[in-house]
Amino acid sequence: MTERLSGKVAIVTGGARGQGFAEAKLFVAEGASVVITDVLTDEGRLAEAELGTNARFFHHDVSRPESWAEVVRSTEELFGPVSILVNNAGIHWVRAIEDETLDDLKRMIDVNLIGTFLGLQAVLPSMRRAGGGAIVNISSLAGMRGMNWHGAYGSTKWAIRGLTKTAALEFASDNIRVNSVHPGAVDTAMLPPDREGLGDARFAANPIPRPARPEEIAEMVCWLASDASSFVTGAEFLIDGGSLLGGRPTPRPPTP
Ligand code: NAD
Repeated sequence: MTERLSGKVAIVTGGARGQGFAEAKLFVAEGASVVITDVLTDEGRLAEAELGTNARFFHHDVSRPESWAEVVRSTEELFGPVSILVNNAGIHWVRAIEDETLDDLKRMIDVNLIGTFLGLQAVLPSMRRAGGGAIVNISSLAGMRGMNWHGAYGSTKWAIRGLTKTAALEFASDNIRVNSVHPGAVDTAMLPPDREGLGDARFAANPIPRPARPEEIAEMVCWLASDASSFVTGAEFLIDGGSLLGGRPTPRPPTP
């Protein structure tokens, strides 16, 4: 079987665990060289060991511009010019708008939005040297609709959705595609704790009544990172088990 990412060089932020790790694992299996970055050093090193020789971990805070310059420089030295960026790192909490603090709001914006923006800026020269590339920005279902208690998080995810479209316009002449992915609930550390032990019952109202596995999101991200999606840019990809539909399971009406 042909590898979908043969010869590609990827950076996946927030790759020490969760969706970022699943994406890195699939990318390596599909022939890419991958740099994972994260603020979690121990988890990052473990992930690097599991991914093998075509992957490296760098400690990196996406909200810091100097840290981005170092990551791109080191990636290029190791593997060559960058052809894929997945802006996946993110933080999340649920809180009423009324209770949000200015410091926490700024932290959320720094990591989720500014981290993504800095990533776009940092990889651009390297992607030009690669002759083009694909950028995938991880937004959320919370960037597609209103979601109560997601004032800070939702603001950043809507912003990522909009930024993606501007970047797609500005980067197109450099043969760089930019798209956003909008997962619903995914079974990672970010999912709010199941304090009442309800399990998948929490998702009973969704057409697919369970959270996504990180590997399911990775499949979509891999397609967007690969040349298979060569005519796709500035687009938004919902992967939420149908939850945006807002339908409620109701009994089928009697057959007339
Ligand atoms: P996760 O918490 O397992 O992964 C997020 C990773 O980002 C962590 O490894 C974390 O250490 C890293 N990170 C946090 N701040 C960072 C920083 N400043 N610099 C670098 N790395 C940093 O959760 P996940 O579900 O794998 O989240 C991945 C992405 O998916 C996030 O952008 C998240 O907002 C989005 N998302 C998650 C869900 C969900 O239900 N889990 C739903 C929709 C969208």
